[in-house]
Amino acid sequence: MNQAGRQKIVAEVIVAGAGAAGLYAALTAAREGARTLLVSQAPLASTASYWAQGGIAAALGADDSVEQHQADTLAAGRQAARVSAVRVLVHESPSAVRDLISLGVDFDRDADGTLARGLEGGHSMRRVVHAGGSATGRRITRELSALAAEHPLITVIEQASARSLTIENGRCTGVMVSVAGTDAVTLTARATILATGGYAALWARSTNPPAAVGSGLTMAHAAGAELADLEFLQFHPTALLSETRNQGFLITEAIRGEGATLIDQHGERFVEELAPRDEVAAAVERRRNGEDGRPGGPVFLDMRKIDRAMFPNVFDKIEQAGIDPRREPVPVAPAAHYGMGGIVTDLNARSKVPGLLAVGECACTGLHGANRLASNSLAECLVFGRRAAIAALAEPAPAHEGQKTGETRPAMPTEPDPDPAATRDLLWRCGGIERDAAGLTELAASANPLVRMIAAGALARRETRGAHQRKDFPELDHELDFQHFVTGAEGELKRVRWE
Ligand SMILES: Cc1cc2nc3c(=O)[nH]c(=O)nc-3n(C[C@H](O)[C@H](O)[C@H](O)COP(=O)(O)OP(=O)(O)OC[C@H]3O[C@@H](n4cnc5c(N)ncnc54)[C@H](O)[C@@H]3O)c2cc1C
Repeated sequence: MNQAGRQKIVAEVIVAGAGAAGLYAALTAAREGARTLLVSQAPLASTASYWAQGGIAAALGADDSVEQHQADTLAAGRQAARVSAVRVLVHESPSAVRDLISLGVDFDRDADGTLARGLEGGHSMRRVVHAGGSATGRRITRELSALAAEHPLITVIEQASARSLTIENGRCTGVMVSVAGTDAVTLTARATILATGGYAALWARSTNPPAAVGSGLTMAHAAGAELADLEFLQFHPTALLSETRNQGFLITEAIRGEGATLIDQHGERFVEELAPRDEVAAAVERRRNGEDGRPGGPVFLDMRKIDRAMFPNVFDKIEQAGIDPRREPVPVAPAAHYGMGGIVTDLNARSKVPGLLAVGECACTGLHGANRLASNSLAECLVFGRRAAIAALAEPAPAHEGQKTGETRPAMPTEPDPDPAATRDLLWRCGGIERDAAGLTELAASANPLVRMIAAGALARRETRGAHQRKDFPELDHELDFQHFVTGAEGELKRVRWE
């Protein structure tokens, strides 16, 4: 822990956020010889990366190919994924996994010693490498975090919340952080990489850690960066429903990959379990609400035939809620899970603001389009985390005090949300799995600026595509194929196609 007090700290690279994206970006920068500050608000165990279960998608099998991984990613993205970003991901994900192995991550292996590969929704074959069964995120982040803590070029500043970015002559020169609730400390560097995670915890039922409320997005927008694709929020079909403990706990899709089925109160299957998430989540919600022509009622995941030893931590969590998944079907419902939208970046993680980069779930390269393919996000954290660090080092060195030509100003995000609980309920009700103009108009009056931008994007997209399902526009509009709604620095919304 750095006892920085009020001082100003200078480094070459600042990384805000210590999930998979931030840890890997920081390690890459340090391995390139750069003095790096890694700022982390919450303990490791409270990051989405730590909670990741299924694994990392990478075309590593002899029967697989990057072309097939690309085709599956594009199909899931529903003609909205940016092809160039997908290409980068599928080509670089295998080497990222190999790098993790060289760093000490122990991926699960089959009896013959080859990497074990799980099957998840939307993948045309087994492609998801995992560690410790469903403890993949925990295994990876523990390893990376230990390496970051030991690295002589990395200074970890814990319990530090990034509050605002500092801007000089239009260039990001660093970030102001509050350490353990004290006054702000100014960190200065040639580049600042935001890796602050997503915004799915803004919804009432969410699989995410509570802090995933898009603070990085709000900060970056206040500093002049663009945000895009905010209307695309993925709902995971199988979050645990429990009145006692672990409400919203995610039950990994890999369990459906091993044969678990979704059934209704009559024990009948009603959906193809391994269809892409948007389809499965919508089918579960319709079944629950009786919107598919039959009376509504609870939905269950029947995992009675699943081997407990394959997913011990999932079984543990369900059992803690008083349910025995070996004997009874598990009550489930969709929950907000992953924000495809974020801070607009190029393929090297650079935002529109010079010196400011973004990576991981807070970023939007356009990779996921309207629907993220399962297990592509940890891959994204690694692939674009590495690219972010390399691009950061190509930024010009910060000006010394005597050389400064302009005023340095903190770009303060707008007013804080006065009632986060009300916002969560509002988003669930008006910006949930199915939306319409009336609800979204109500959402657009939210006190939370990020929620207003989500509503604006969702109102503008007058169609149903992937995770964005409009009751009043139930068809896909091909005019909007590969079009992204981008919120500019002044809040203006524009339609953009990225090459
Ligand atoms: C339950 C669950 C299971 C999942 N399973 C998988 C899976 O199997 N495979 C897959 O590919 N994806 C999975 N995902 C998605 C994936 O885990 C996330 O998209 C990914 O881990 C995001 O990583 P990140 O580094 O961008 O953000 P996070 O891991 O969320 O890390 C964000 C970091 O930023 C910090 N932070 C936030 N705000 C601030 C601030 N203002 N100042 C300083 N620090 C800040 C946080 O403390 C944290 O350290 C899962 C997600 C969940 C929730």
